[in-house]
Amino acid sequence: MTEPIGLYIHVPFCVKKCLYCDFYSLPLCSRESTVRKRYIDRVIANISAYSQHYDTVYFGGGTPSLLSVADFYRVLSAADIANGAEITIECNPESVTDEKLTGYHSAGINRISIGVQSFDDRELKMLGRAHDCDTAVRAVKGAYKSGFDNISVDLMLGLPFQSEKTVTDNIARAAELPVNHISAYMLKIEDGTPLLEDKALCDGVDDDCTAMYYEKANECLEKHGYMCYEISNFAKKGFECRHNLKYWHCEDYIGIGPSAHSCFGGKRFAVPDDLDAFIGSDRQPVYVTDNSPCGEEERLMLQIRLREGICPEDFGAMGERIRKNAEPLISHGFIEIKDARLTLTVKGCLVSNEIICRLVE
Ligand code: SF4
Repeated sequence: MTEPIGLYIHVPFCVKKCLYCDFYSLPLCSRESTVRKRYIDRVIANISAYSQHYDTVYFGGGTPSLLSVADFYRVLSAADIANGAEITIECNPESVTDEKLTGYHSAGINRISIGVQSFDDRELKMLGRAHDCDTAVRAVKGAYKSGFDNISVDLMLGLPFQSEKTVTDNIARAAELPVNHISAYMLKIEDGTPLLEDKALCDGVDDDCTAMYYEKANECLEKHGYMCYEISNFAKKGFECRHNLKYWHCEDYIGIGPSAHSCFGGKRFAVPDDLDAFIGSDRQPVYVTDNSPCGEEERLMLQIRLREGICPEDFGAMGERIRKNAEPLISHGFIEIKDARLTLTVKGCLVSNEIICRLVE
């Protein structure tokens, strides 16, 4: 049997578009159940066509929790999944019920990532989210009650007019709940999003404050037992996301669904952002984005994001250059040496792209 790899399934449906979002997702419409069925049929057809063995499965989106329990039974029974595999679903608080959560768990999903973003109603409203704080708390408690003991929540940092207090309150609120993984993303105002058009909100975003909140969040998360294992990801021991670690370790994975990306068979390839094209073809259309992925620079770029850092010796001829380029970065406090490995400091995490350029130049 071939080595198990990761499987990502992109579910391109959302109740409504959040103001800051540039992921590929479409609002559900009156054709909902027909489109959803055809989408699931095509996901299953593609799973069969790739015919691989998986030790992690990740349903991302969009809003996977808009799918029914029966949809997950169908998809998961079509895939060859290893014993002990990590199977994650991303959920939005307003789209789950206790009944659905119990069903997802019974279908074999064993990790849930809930898009909370904030426990502050004012911040949630500003982001255009479809839930409020009470709904988020109910979703986390509901997931736990339904049998999930591997629960992650997403929180956002650097929101318009955010304060240090809401950052630390949000983390404390998550820590009170049965949450063992927190993804804390810094808000990026993307082109083409309604947020960019809203001058008043954009004026409320301050890069210096965001940097300060990131440092504060690191401190606060650590105090609550969540250790940083990747720039934006924090977990209690043993609850790091195995699927996402595959991305940063440059391991193979297959992505199915419009806008999904893959790294498989010595290539990186992607599916166009086009639901109709996806459901209209037997095999998902793909275009190659990289013919020789996981070269030394790319490996460095991905692995340096991890708290475990990199060992220059693992980068062949580039190793000596990395070691030399790292010296000034170490003395300025952007990189530190831990167990003979180079790792980003919190200050380094804030300018990781610049650090990567300096290391390989
Ligand atoms: S729920 Fe997630 S994917 Fe959907 S619009 Fe909001 S941020 Fe984007």
